Amino acid sequence: MQAMGVTGFGEQKRVMNFSLAAAAVLLGAKVTAAVMTGSSAIYSDAAESVVHFLAVSFAVWALHLAHKPADETHHFGHDKVAFLSAGFEGAMISAAAMLIFYEAVRQIIFGVKIENLGFGVAVTAAAAGINLVLGLSLVAVGKRHNSPLLRANGMHVLTDVWSSVAVLVALGLYWATDWVWWDPIAAMLAALNILRVGYRLIRESLGGLLDESDPVVEREIRDLLDREVEARGLSYHNLRHRHSGRTHWVEFHLVFEDSLTVGEAHVAATEIESSVAALLHPDGRVISHLEPRSAENEEEHWETR
Ligand SMILES: [Zn+2]
Ligand SMILES: [Zn+2]
Repeated sequence: MQAMGVTGFGEQKRVMNFSLAAAAVLLGAKVTAAVMTGSSAIYSDAAESVVHFLAVSFAVWALHLAHKPADETHHFGHDKVAFLSAGFEGAMISAAAMLIFYEAVRQIIFGVKIENLGFGVAVTAAAAGINLVLGLSLVAVGKRHNSPLLRANGMHVLTDVWSSVAVLVALGLYWATDWVWWDPIAAMLAALNILRVGYRLIRESLGGLLDESDPVVEREIRDLLDREVEARGLSYHNLRHRHSGRTHWVEFHLVFEDSLTVGEAHVAATEIESSVAALLHPDGRVISHLEPRSAENEEEHWETR
């Protein structure tokens, strides 16, 4: 029925599988480092690793589901699950941020004692390096294939790079000044940054789930429709469009002179539909409703635009 979406799936799958493998390895390494050092900044990194692993597992499942073609019970495909995955990822890391904050406050109240500093620094630096490479590739592949799921995972991974940098700076300052409170302070700053990204992911996810329209895309569609109808002496109304993750769906009404045959009107409508679909390459689905000039104002009370 359609040759959609298979493009780039292999590449997206590879980079997400790598993300999951990295999450598992870093989880083990960070938990070990947290136990050995007693640092609250490293503990927070380890706590984040637990939800990190859950979030990436969910995203890997969602990526497979998102690429299933439309079927008898899901006529519009499954790609919207990508928005759900981005929201889940945002909610999970926000929860981690609150746990980190709680732990930092607890350490400020009850005291901090840091041991095995060198081991903690080595693990954190290695994690930052792995996550930097991984995060940049996720964002790049996500942008190339227009995937909110991969971009969300990439943003999350890059946030963790900043958390690791905060840990390294805190441990460095502690080593240089012997003032132990750098550690919980760094943990709190990392938590605030994670919350900021978590909010952004949840915000984007809601926008996608509620079919928020992109004003830039809307301008482009309207400019194209204006040119197309003007060239044919027609008019259009009730333009609606939404983006479901990979596919852009567009609908509008075209108004024809009463004297045209259905066949003639259909030819013009099909041409206009395909030029809008071409604008929304690689995956635009466009449908128009045809009506005669005499009936232009007689209908569609249920539609508001
Ligand atoms: Zn993470
Ligand atoms: Zn109409």
